[in-house]
Amino acid sequence: MSDHSQSVIFPSVGEQDAASLGGDLLAWLVSEGILIFTPCDCVLSSALGYPPGPNYVAATGMADGNLLQLKTNGAEFSIRRTVFDAGGNGFSLICPSCAARFERLPHWGDAVNDWFCSAGEGQLACPACSVTQTVEEWLYDPPYGFASFGITFWNWPHLTEGFIQALAARTGHCAQVIRASI
Ligand SMILES: [Zn+2]
Repeated sequence: MSDHSQSVIFPSVGEQDAASLGGDLLAWLVSEGILIFTPCDCVLSSALGYPPGPNYVAATGMADGNLLQLKTNGAEFSIRRTVFDAGGNGFSLICPSCAARFERLPHWGDAVNDWFCSAGEGQLACPACSVTQTVEEWLYDPPYGFASFGITFWNWPHLTEGFIQALAARTGHCAQVIRASI
């Protein structure tokens, strides 16, 4: 069975605030019974995640009979610059200025590296209209996200809009959801 994930990301959170906001949200999610404060190998990365708690349904609105038995069922906190992609099925780039659509742009990888590795802005020019925008500003189909803070829920049922808004309200920042299939 393939794995899927939902990342709730907060693009306007600065790197300097990510760790403390992550700690605050983790404490709240544990206090609500949505996560369990036992870091374990329950996410698809080298990081540790937090498994679903007895009240995880508060985030999903519906139970999933298999979730608690899955090996990959945790929530992963990203507190540094992260590219939240949609999985391995490819993507298109869409210019926010002229709406031109590209299957690939030769310098996109360099721009992402600049943003990810060098804390740069990741500037990328549109070949159609010549306007330069950052990799955060370019649009992606399916959606990609660039953020210093996000929480990735592995194999959870669809998170409710109310839950996503509750996370946003607690951080004071807008939330965006990036869905991926692996
Ligand atoms: Zn353009």
